[in-house]
Amino acid sequence: MNKISELFRTKKRTFSFELFPPKTEQGYAGLLDTIAALAKLHPDFISCTYGAGGGNRGKTLDVVEHIQNKHRVTGLAHLTCVLHTKDEIRNILKEIKARGINNVLALRGDPPQDRPDWKPGAENFKYSSELCAFIREHFADYFTIGVAGFPEGHVLCPDREQDAKYLKIKIDNGADFVITQLFFNNQDYFDYVARLKRLGVSARVIPGILPITNYPSLLKFCDLCGATVTDEIKRLFAPIQDDKEAILQAGIQFAVKQCRELLNGGAPGLHFYCLNKLEPTATILRKLEK
Ligand SMILES: Cc1cc2nc3c(=O)[nH]c(=O)nc-3n(C[C@H](O)[C@H](O)[C@H](O)COP(=O)(O)OP(=O)(O)OC[C@H]3O[C@@H](n4cnc5c(N)ncnc54)[C@H](O)[C@@H]3O)c2cc1C
Repeated sequence: MNKISELFRTKKRTFSFELFPPKTEQGYAGLLDTIAALAKLHPDFISCTYGAGGGNRGKTLDVVEHIQNKHRVTGLAHLTCVLHTKDEIRNILKEIKARGINNVLALRGDPPQDRPDWKPGAENFKYSSELCAFIREHFADYFTIGVAGFPEGHVLCPDREQDAKYLKIKIDNGADFVITQLFFNNQDYFDYVARLKRLGVSARVIPGILPITNYPSLLKFCDLCGATVTDEIKRLFAPIQDDKEAILQAGIQFAVKQCRELLNGGAPGLHFYCLNKLEPTATILRKLEK
């Protein structure tokens, strides 16, 4: 399968999807159907999260392997270092390599709800930048490494300038590209890219797009991850929040407009947070092609 860094050599823009490993067998079977449908949209790559929201760490590699082997689509395995020792991370990376996956999204992650006070010791990584350096030290150029970026600053580091400097350390330590946290004000993305450029970062910064399908869940999630629910979003979605179909249509319309503006402004592609569903991402892509 392709290394994402090789895709970048030939493609100006990439379109990709993000999934998460379901907690139940039934959910897993449903995800396989969704993957089959998403694969027909010919994405450049599909990623799968690792332990996000306390989710199932064990299934990430199964999902990515399935994406690659069954559908011949390039896979990207997320890997968080929180709770893992360096030895464990080395073994997981060996397993990722043995399964023929050569793209990793190197993340720190967050301590789970049942261990909120967990702190890294000498045997752990403190930041994802350390994980990037470790991957390059032990696996040379085998992996393309992606990292997370935060146009509005990370929730624990709202100083955008400082947070961009931390992003630069990830790139200096070997990361090849960035996927951003969701955002709704495109100017935040364009300002972020400009800030990174000023710091000398020329790696691709792929915007992460969340199609809105549920307003109360959106408010909860944005509160957790520190993304701003803009006045425009509140004005458009709050009055129709109890009307599922209206929310879906408004979500599609907003995402299409957001994506068009990002691509016209030079974004090197789009990464959709699909939440394990084909729709509304498929409709959004179809409308973008028109
Ligand atoms: C695209 C994307 C995918 C994600 N996928 C997952 C997933 O699969 N599983 C999951 O659990 N979570 C996932 N997350 C969430 C992510 O794990 C959290 O946002 C986490 O809090 C930060 O991870 P990071 O890799 O950005 O951490 P880091 O880059 O290590 O940053 C963590 C914090 O430390 C600060 N910092 C960084 N370097 C330094 C330094 N040298 N000195 C002082 N402070 C520093 C940063 O500003 C930030 O506040 C994802 C996020 C994004 C945007």
